Amino acid sequence: MNVAAPLTAPRPILRERGQREVFCGLTGIVWLHRKMPDAFFLVVGSRTCAHLIQSAAGVMIFAEPRFATAIMEEKDLAGLADLNEELDREVGRLLQRRPDIKTLFLVGSCPSEVIKLDLPRAARRLQDDRSGIRILSYSGSGIETTFTEGEDACLAALARSLPETPATAATALEPELLVVGALPDIVEDQFARLFAEMGVPVRFFPGRSSVDLPAIGPHTRYLLAQPFLGETAAVLDERGAIRLPAPFPFGADGTAAWLQAAADCFAVDPLTFNRAVAPGRERAKRALERHRQVLTGKTVAFLPDSQLEIPLARFLASECGMQLGEVGTPYLHARHLAPELAALPGDVMLSEGQDVERQLDRIRAARPDITVCGLGLANPLEAEGLTTKWSIELVFTPIHGFDQAGDLAELFARPLRRRDLLQV
Ligand code: SF4
Repeated sequence: MNVAAPLTAPRPILRERGQREVFCGLTGIVWLHRKMPDAFFLVVGSRTCAHLIQSAAGVMIFAEPRFATAIMEEKDLAGLADLNEELDREVGRLLQRRPDIKTLFLVGSCPSEVIKLDLPRAARRLQDDRSGIRILSYSGSGIETTFTEGEDACLAALARSLPETPATAATALEPELLVVGALPDIVEDQFARLFAEMGVPVRFFPGRSSVDLPAIGPHTRYLLAQPFLGETAAVLDERGAIRLPAPFPFGADGTAAWLQAAADCFAVDPLTFNRAVAPGRERAKRALERHRQVLTGKTVAFLPDSQLEIPLARFLASECGMQLGEVGTPYLHARHLAPELAALPGDVMLSEGQDVERQLDRIRAARPDITVCGLGLANPLEAEGLTTKWSIELVFTPIHGFDQAGDLAELFARPLRRRDLLQV
């Protein structure tokens, strides 16, 4: 099948606007702090935020209790001045103790006292006094973001700070590919090798150093590695970069089509492309074969959580032979997902947004073989005899590229095998 086929007609999408059950954008710190070891994420928040981050990630934060306890009280305007002083003091202490920090992210959260603080302004004020460190801010608040949108907000802030292509060089610079989205290092290395074999000059964003950043401008061509980076893409577009439309690199065919988009843009000849891509694609197809036996004909449904739902549904239907039930996603970016939507079966039910009780009722009525959902919904559904997969696991596990295609299929096959064993 052709996963890069153009979308011919808009699909009907059920829009849901009700109660949501998702983690907030602070969760992104769990994988972002690993990707950018010279960056520090200072959450300006409450005890709840500190508990979430410390229990989810074991990340050492100190917005709380030394700072957040103070900001939880109602403050008047004079109090806000105190808050800014307090933030400056904490940042000063942190940077004195940790001279290894090259980028400091001030991460906003939900409490009204934090919302009153102008964090972007605080970041600019703190930046003014310091050279050799970049100070940025973004919101991870659960009011504004779901858990993968935290990465989007973080990368959008970083993208705004990327150096400009020098004005005189803008037309002379050779095109350069930027792969956008935090990938585990092992996956980044695999893709870097493939692009090198194709002769495509590539940078990754974010990279492993927050200091060595690519210049952005009209010479930049970018491929999204994640479907939840709408704001980051908008910033790159504003700065003159050009997005290469492609499906996302999940599975043998999805990864090949993603690489093909770069090959087409950089005029890689078909022989070179095949020599680089065919071995990995074959490996991926062989790895999928074993899991297809378990997955073919089984039904999978998605509750909206990570924004990975549509690319994963395409992968499971077209490469693993699964039947799709409802595919719900918190936000559907029609332009970024056009090649994915075009490759979905024509009769699939798509929903955007969340109204958790109504969606749970539909899942209970349909009883799919496996339901992909947030942690909070998995236990109740399991108690009702439904098999589930935590969507957050799909963000923490390396799943992109040829060499992870088998692991990705196994994430769905394993719970089904376990269910079958328990039923015997
Ligand atoms: Fe809770 Fe908001 Fe803090 Fe997230 S940012 S932990 S939703 S208070």
